[in-house]
Amino acid sequence: MRVLYPGSFDPITKGHMNIVDQATLLFDEVIIAVLQNPIKKISFFTLEERLEILNKLYYNNTKIKIIASNNTATDLALEYKCKAIIRGLRSIKDFEYEKQLAEINKDISDDQVNTICLFAEAKLQTVSSSVVKEIFYLNKSISKYVDPIVEEKMIKKGENNK
Ligand code: ADP
Repeated sequence: MRVLYPGSFDPITKGHMNIVDQATLLFDEVIIAVLQNPIKKISFFTLEERLEILNKLYYNNTKIKIIASNNTATDLALEYKCKAIIRGLRSIKDFEYEKQLAEINKDISDDQVNTICLFAEAKLQTVSSSVVKEIFYLNKSISKYVDPIVEEKMIKKGENNK
């Protein structure tokens, strides 16, 4: 079974990566879709930079394909013939949002696209891209929350923006 894991991944955290690991154990193929969330107007990395980071992280994993798109997750799921969308749950707050999103995605795809939610392992459930960015802007180490490839890219980008 092929599934789609859509998200902003700005940046990808160890929480996201834990969901990817679980999805690759459960399914035959995982397409990670880097999307521009229209609500999150200001992003740290461009779509192209996020795509490059994910490609670097997963280049040797044959079960994973990375795409970047301005399309919606539902359209991509249909285009790539994915049976379901994978989303990650951390809290009740996530639950409310994800439940609503799952219902909308099912509705706009005429019941073709379902959502499967996975939980990250306990110690990663508080990690989020926004917390990583906050810690980074406070000049504290983010190495507990992101892969070294991501940390290096953030430091480089931060220096270029000075
Ligand atoms: P979006 O803008 O689509 O919410 P995100 O990159 O913020 O994109 O998140 C993508 C998905 O990964 C969402 O389902 C989110 O709940 C999930 N996710 C993010 N961080 C974690 C985490 N630490 N544990 C579990 N799921 C997570």
